[in-house]
Amino acid sequence: MGLGFCSFASGSSGNCYMIKYDNEALLIDAGISGKKIFQGLEDTGVSMEDVCGVLVTHEHIDHVKSLPIVTKKLPNIKAYANENTWAAIERPVADEKRATFHTGEDFYIEDFLIRPFPIPHDAAEPVGYSIYIADRQISIVTDVGHMTDEIFEEIIDADLLVLEANHEEEILLMGSYPYHLKRRILGEKGHLSNVSAGECLCSLIEANPKKRRVLLGHLSRENNDPSVALLAVKNTLMEKDIFVGSDLKIEVVNRDCCSCLYEV
Ligand SMILES: [Zn+2]
Ligand SMILES: [Zn+2]
Repeated sequence: MGLGFCSFASGSSGNCYMIKYDNEALLIDAGISGKKIFQGLEDTGVSMEDVCGVLVTHEHIDHVKSLPIVTKKLPNIKAYANENTWAAIERPVADEKRATFHTGEDFYIEDFLIRPFPIPHDAAEPVGYSIYIADRQISIVTDVGHMTDEIFEEIIDADLLVLEANHEEEILLMGSYPYHLKRRILGEKGHLSNVSAGECLCSLIEANPKKRRVLLGHLSRENNDPSVALLAVKNTLMEKDIFVGSDLKIEVVNRDCCSCLYEV
């Protein structure tokens, strides 16, 4: 396999993705238990020595929970975050394992070219990432209150896109969450709904009808369901006469178990 991608978990109770190419691997976020992360690495054939970095999107616990153990146990890893995110992370990470970037400025980790870009979410300085290697692009956009032109430009050419489909608005509104939490999730800096994810995909496909794989992620346990998310997104696409097929693959990544290892 050339370039591989696996979601170890995706959702409001923990997030961690893995990208591997040759003998190099990256993690994006470390919001599940160390045990699950190490198991995921083993299952996808990545040795502990091969992991060269963990990219942090923002300081919420479902993204940083296991930063201390991961940076301690993986010998060649460094954790990458911007300054404001580091300041907001309350988990201890050794100084020599920390690296700081500026949002909007590209940098390399081994052969991976990384581009962090700003996203609207209620955190210190949250980012999405595009990762470029071997003429391919993988982009991760979750924990976004709404789609922005800037994000859209960053993900337009992605070969594999992880896109948030957090909730079904009707379910959220009728559900048991307190009013302030509903307001937060639905707000400009909250989370992306199924329909918003579908609308974003419509615009992407209209702007660039390339072959791509889309993984719907960060689903809410209470306010969504994999089949609901998929149906809502497909229906939104169908309204624009866009059909899922060989050029457009859409799947949901699980909240608490590993996806397959996708070849990108
Ligand atoms: Zn999150
Ligand atoms: Zn968050």
